[in-house]
Amino acid sequence: MSTRVGVIRGNGIGPEITEATLRVLEATGIGFEWVPVPIGDEGMEQYGHPLPQEAVKLLKELKLAIKAPLLVDKFKGRMYCEHEDGSVGVYPSLNNAIRRELKLFVDPRPIRGVRGISGRYETMDVHIMREITEDVYSGIEHMIGDVAAECTKLTTREAAVRVAEYGFDYARKNGRKKVTCVHKANAVSMADGLFLSCFREVAAKNPDIPSDDYMVDATAYYLAKCPEKFDVIVASNQYGDILSDLAAGLVGSLGLAPGANVGPDGRIVVEASHGAAPDIAGKGIANPIALILSGALLLRHMGRQDQAARVERAVWRVLEERIALTPDLGGTAFTMDVADAIVRCMDEA
Ligand code: ATP
Repeated sequence: MSTRVGVIRGNGIGPEITEATLRVLEATGIGFEWVPVPIGDEGMEQYGHPLPQEAVKLLKELKLAIKAPLLVDKFKGRMYCEHEDGSVGVYPSLNNAIRRELKLFVDPRPIRGVRGISGRYETMDVHIMREITEDVYSGIEHMIGDVAAECTKLTTREAAVRVAEYGFDYARKNGRKKVTCVHKANAVSMADGLFLSCFREVAAKNPDIPSDDYMVDATAYYLAKCPEKFDVIVASNQYGDILSDLAAGLVGSLGLAPGANVGPDGRIVVEASHGAAPDIAGKGIANPIALILSGALLLRHMGRQDQAARVERAVWRVLEERIALTPDLGGTAFTMDVADAIVRCMDEA
């Protein structure tokens, strides 16, 4: 029986990197049925809403999905999602709405350096657990006349404990050595103070895994200067967002940074850490590796560690042996050349 997986093709470079990713996942030999999920332009065309409830229902039913980046500025302003029971979800962006309608709560982003590509960050291996339900992306903000604006940095005990617990579980399951909490509790004493104290409570229940904490500014400094200080990082929504782009830049490209939005009931929506990159869309030169490695995270979630490792080994070979590199990594290969090269390496292994 084939495994049904939802596919959100997105826009910008989305459709190009999706095609490459599906090509690689099909080469695993696992029978997949790709189920189109009408979100973004497709949602507007079919249901008159970028995130129709039909799509939310479908994603909840499928549990597994691959999401390419969506051009967020196409859907500006607040997003209102009306539910069957009459309640309304209000979100600051489409991406945020997808995560919160599905109750996805953490975005693990493993970022690793590549030999021969990442320069002095070749050995970097940092896994950022980004909380994705609250913080300054909660959508709680308003104008005060036209002279000021106020934005709430929402931090709840429930979400802070949940992401910290996920970080320690992740460390244990993946054989990682340390978990670090990132915060700015000296300046944002209540919101970040609560995030940090929840982390410390969870750390105390996980004494087998060493833990520590750093201020977010110091984290940025040490990530650039000595990234080996970090292993698993637990961060609130905005700090995780920014630090994962920084880490991706250090290893060489946003095109190398995968991610997965994880939620309850076995739900997962994997997606690259980067956006829709409209500056290079339609040219066939986008690096598909972040989404392909996100596909490997999906395989791990499905319990197909063997095939996930096969994909990852092939990706690493293509990169380290410079078999097919897109322009962001200094090469001249096209998106589908990279996918083809990965499939060839999978076959040869
Ligand atoms: P978002 O806010 O949606 O995350 P962003 O503002 O971080 O988006 P991106 O769309 O991620 O912006 O693009 C940032 C830069 O990185 C752009 O110059 C883009 O071309 C480049 N980039 C992003 N993804 C890729 C990729 N897969 N391959 C090559 N270059 C990429």
